[in-house]
Amino acid sequence: MTAGTGRWIRNFVDGRYVEPDENRSFENIDPATGRVFARVHEADRELVDRAVTAARRALRDGWATTPVRERAALLRRAADRIEERFEEFVAAEVADTGKPVTQARQLDVARAPANFRTFADVAAAGQESFLTDLAGGRQALNYAVRKPLGVVAVVVPWNLPLLLLTWKVAPALACGNAVVVKPSEETPATASLLAEILTEVGLPAGVYNVVHGFGGGSAGEFLTSHPDIDGVTFTGSSATGTQVMRTVAPRARPVSLELGGKNAAVVFDDVDVDEALTGLTKSVFTNTGQVCLCTERVYVQRAIFDDIAQGLAERARGLRLGDPLDAATTTGPLISKAHRDKVAGYFELAEQAGAQVLTGGGVPQLGPDLAGGSWIEPTLWTGLANTHPAVREEIFGPVAALIPFDTEEEAIGLANDTEYGLAASVWTDDLRRGHRVAQAMNVGTAWVNTWFLRDLRSPFGGVGLSGLGREGGESSLHFYTEPTNVCVQL
Ligand code: NAD
Repeated sequence: MTAGTGRWIRNFVDGRYVEPDENRSFENIDPATGRVFARVHEADRELVDRAVTAARRALRDGWATTPVRERAALLRRAADRIEERFEEFVAAEVADTGKPVTQARQLDVARAPANFRTFADVAAAGQESFLTDLAGGRQALNYAVRKPLGVVAVVVPWNLPLLLLTWKVAPALACGNAVVVKPSEETPATASLLAEILTEVGLPAGVYNVVHGFGGGSAGEFLTSHPDIDGVTFTGSSATGTQVMRTVAPRARPVSLELGGKNAAVVFDDVDVDEALTGLTKSVFTNTGQVCLCTERVYVQRAIFDDIAQGLAERARGLRLGDPLDAATTTGPLISKAHRDKVAGYFELAEQAGAQVLTGGGVPQLGPDLAGGSWIEPTLWTGLANTHPAVREEIFGPVAALIPFDTEEEAIGLANDTEYGLAASVWTDDLRRGHRVAQAMNVGTAWVNTWFLRDLRSPFGGVGLSGLGREGGESSLHFYTEPTNVCVQL
């Protein structure tokens, strides 16, 4: 088998890597150094069509009706194989994203086998059934047979490439679907590498396909507009998500949208400041702020506002930017120069509005080797109004605005004053207040005294501009299957 990564990152269609075409390719850049480390073969419309056709055929050839225990066993073997080749995935993910190797090991790549194992277990769950009471003492038996949705288009972003990909591919396969995956153009490597694993563990040809390329006018649009897909699961920005919804609308296919966030942390003055600072540091700066769940708004009760502001700034200054392969590095670059320009644009806007910059606000100098990378300083502001663009729009960088509040009611109002609704965290020693405020958050996920603690069986998604639908556990089973209700009069 020709490898899916190396100098070339290849498309994977109908069980084999596709010979790349030099004339239809783009560069894959290491964001830590700015150097090109591979070329990616961009799929054209015809190749996307071949992938969808292969997926359809694979379903008919028996994958859709393979017993669930066999599919689950295959997924568990895939999890084992990823663990055996763990460091290859780590290397590919670090080269693609520039993220610190320690994070890639502990979070990104570790989540891939967890995704496969969780959905192998979840898929084995039973069917909904119940009795309906009829006139005259008779009854009817109702049950739903869940069938695979069919050919599922999977479109994912660059920030947690393998984690987010396997979060969708694992349940899709567990439920008997065939997938055509379109990874981000910024981070194509691990999707192609995963094809090797799935082939090795015996996944039939055509069940997992990868097409590389961009969004509009390229593989992303060719795939989501294809007339023979049965549904789209998308993770990415709110703007693209709504575009994908429009593309799919004329054919009324189901979409699952996991979109952007502008997440709040609400910190009450009864909290252990040190513990809260540890949690906040993680929630603002993990993955250089490039997690949809990252906190970009920190509301702090007035009595401890200065302690939290100064403490968080000190923790931010203690982050170590540098070579992603150095185990001591905590913070990598942003994904690209274009994204850095966007984040830096908010630095200017905040300063123009008179924000106080507690720390950061610029581009760091990291020596000749990393000079070409898209580095940015972790940055904190105070003095911004809740209406300022830096407090309203998703920046997707290592940044946060800190804003004081006096009462619980005021904090809830400030946190909910947003078009987004992905996640929030509440920091308090008062458990009743924790429950009360968490439930009042208009979001898909609200944490109390923690952040990014995920049980893959729980529903995940957002409200408002943060998305549509839920995935995870049973919610994934529901999205990746179509139920047929059978009603039998007894
Ligand atoms: P993006 O929307 O630019 O791209 C996401 C994917 O969509 C990429 O593969 C891209 O090529 C593709 N795409 C772009 N235009 C398309 C089109 N017209 N048709 C079909 N496909 C198209 O997002 P990004 O910059 O890669 O990722 C960052 C965004 O993702 C942030 O907004 C972040 O909050 C969000 N995100 C959300 C979650 C979540 O679970 N809610 C998780 C991670 C990231």
